[in-house]
Amino acid sequence: MSERIATVKKTKEIQDTYQVFTKKTYGQNFIVVPNVVERIANAAIHDENEMVIEIGPGIGALTQCLCERSNHVIAFEIDERLPEILEKEIGLDHLTVVLKDFLKVDVNEEIRKYRKAGQKVVVASNLPYYITTPILFALFEAKEPIERITVMMQREVAQRFLARQNDKEYNALSVITQYRCDVSKVMDISRNVFWPKPNVDSMVIQFNFHHRYHVEDENAFFEMVKGCFTQRRKTIYNNLQAYLGDKDKARKLIERANLEPSLRGQQCTLEDFLTMYENGKDLL
Ligand code: SAM
Repeated sequence: MSERIATVKKTKEIQDTYQVFTKKTYGQNFIVVPNVVERIANAAIHDENEMVIEIGPGIGALTQCLCERSNHVIAFEIDERLPEILEKEIGLDHLTVVLKDFLKVDVNEEIRKYRKAGQKVVVASNLPYYITTPILFALFEAKEPIERITVMMQREVAQRFLARQNDKEYNALSVITQYRCDVSKVMDISRNVFWPKPNVDSMVIQFNFHHRYHVEDENAFFEMVKGCFTQRRKTIYNNLQAYLGDKDKARKLIERANLEPSLRGQQCTLEDFLTMYENGKDLL
């Protein structure tokens, strides 16, 4: 095992050697505790033949561990100063560093380009927090199959993905995510494991795609769910009335799903929303 990059000593050494200092605008907070990167990599990769997509390798703290567990790692980094460092510090044949803004890549195209026959694709990242949700949605929308996504994010955002009916964090994002994935917590992470130290604590969570539900028009379904949560304190009847611009349609949509019009979005399960959509598609 080579010297860990995820230590304070090594991180400072790399910064001094290459004269690169962290850029706040890119959400650069590097992990400096080896045990943390090891646990993320262990959760992310189940088989050495899985192709790993890493978003934001930074100076390679997590990348190094991913490369020890998989024989094919593709890391997308926006900061042009970093590929050279990754090349010199890790420089393995089975690591490809792609200098691109992940939000601008076509995820399907990149997967088709790099995946070898028979390989499963997994994603691992200590996400840049300022773009957590758009990155995840780009991955959720991908048509090419992804097996699982293991990512670190701000704890409060993670709690929204994990939230269940009646939890205070439960919202449209929770429902839409659970439509596609089983979401589970991997571990809590203290702000003290980063350099520089951010103002918030984090959590690593995992998304496993389950392929259990297939609605005809996903956009219509997602918009309806968002419509039910437009104003948290309002009932689904009031929210749907505003969303559909029609009282009668709102009433029918709820009646056909055998739900009470006095419910709030927060009290409805994913199955309730699916029934509402399936029995009322013609009203949307
Ligand atoms: N993986 C490293 C670690 O755990 O120490 C660094 C994680 S740091 C929180 C986020 C990384 O994402 C930074 O290296 C940053 O430059 C990169 N990044 C930010 N925005 C990005 C984008 N749009 N596309 C790709 N990488 C991005």
